[in-house]
Amino acid sequence: MRPETVAVTAGRPPDRPGEPLNVPIVMASNFRAGSPGLATVEYSRDGGTPTWRALEAAVGALEGGHATAFASGMAAVFAVLDLLPIGSRVVVPSDSYSTLRALLRTDGARGRWKLDYVDVTDTDAVLTAAESADLLWLESPTNPLMDVADLARLCAGARAAGTLVAVDNTFATPLLQRPLTLGADFVVHSGTKFIGGHSDLLIGLTVTADEDLNEQLGTRRELAGATPGGLEAYLALRGLRTMAVRLAAGQRSAGELAERLHAHPAVSRVRYPGLADDPGHSRAAAQMDGFGAVLSFEVSGGEQAADRVCEGLGVIRAATSLGGVESTIERRAKLPGQEHVPASLLRLSVGCEHVEDLWEDLDQALNRTL
Ligand SMILES: *Cc1c(COP(=O)(O)O)cnc(C)c1O
Repeated sequence: MRPETVAVTAGRPPDRPGEPLNVPIVMASNFRAGSPGLATVEYSRDGGTPTWRALEAAVGALEGGHATAFASGMAAVFAVLDLLPIGSRVVVPSDSYSTLRALLRTDGARGRWKLDYVDVTDTDAVLTAAESADLLWLESPTNPLMDVADLARLCAGARAAGTLVAVDNTFATPLLQRPLTLGADFVVHSGTKFIGGHSDLLIGLTVTADEDLNEQLGTRRELAGATPGGLEAYLALRGLRTMAVRLAAGQRSAGELAERLHAHPAVSRVRYPGLADDPGHSRAAAQMDGFGAVLSFEVSGGEQAADRVCEGLGVIRAATSLGGVESTIERRAKLPGQEHVPASLLRLSVGCEHVEDLWEDLDQALNRTL
């Protein structure tokens, strides 16, 4: 089955008369002891709930591995990092999600791990750094500079060196990119974004094809208590059902907006791997089934002009986060720890509004900076 079909069909109750089509929201901390088939779920922090497991089954089927749901994307990220022995060496992209950077920096300063920052587009440099590391952390496309890493080559090289590879697949989603099939050991997701899709929940997932690693991640969840809520797991699975159509709509508009922004006099640079002259274009075309619904662009007038663009928008919301049905825009350099991001760079997550309404909104706000 194709991913669009898996997103709709996986994680359903048995196909039998009288069964509900959707796994219900099971709000339970504990279960009657000794129940047949439920031996491992007596306490949900340990064994999960039917609702969590339905979401895990669906995301696991899409990525080609075993999924474990967490309280947030960061809880999933932390569970993977926390598998490492104290003092491990971690290779990380010099551009990556801001809170991941904060976590690595803060706990790195306490001696938890040693960090090696790399430009993910420089495959040879990443492989050299990964040779003596315990974990290679990757994001592709990166947040927010939209750099594209050569996942297959990096995974193969790291594997040959005995280095684990984790890929944050939040931007691409398993509909556009499946890192486990390209050789990664772990995938992590902020399910808060495209999977949930409605800006109304926080959830995260890890996925790995290795049963033992998945078990270890389940143990990290249990010990840290980083459990998802029942309602959140239910809503995330409900969001996943429509992810393919939402993403297709956002992606179509993102491609169109990227072209028009590229030609706009108030824009100095657009970063979107779907643009033919983007540095990541050929790599993304080779490893992804689409270029996604997020793009970044720099405003010619600089930082203040970029802020004025955000304030001047009406349809597009000036808000953090991404992956919702509503388009959101943010000047990322205003966040702490994002000094490497150009001051006038705006990250735009394209939602399901009509592309002409989005364009009219952007065009009028940009024109006012000229
Ligand atoms: C948002 C995000 C995260 C963190 O997820 P939360 O659900 O907010 O904890 C991790 N990685 C990327 C790429 C993200 O965009």
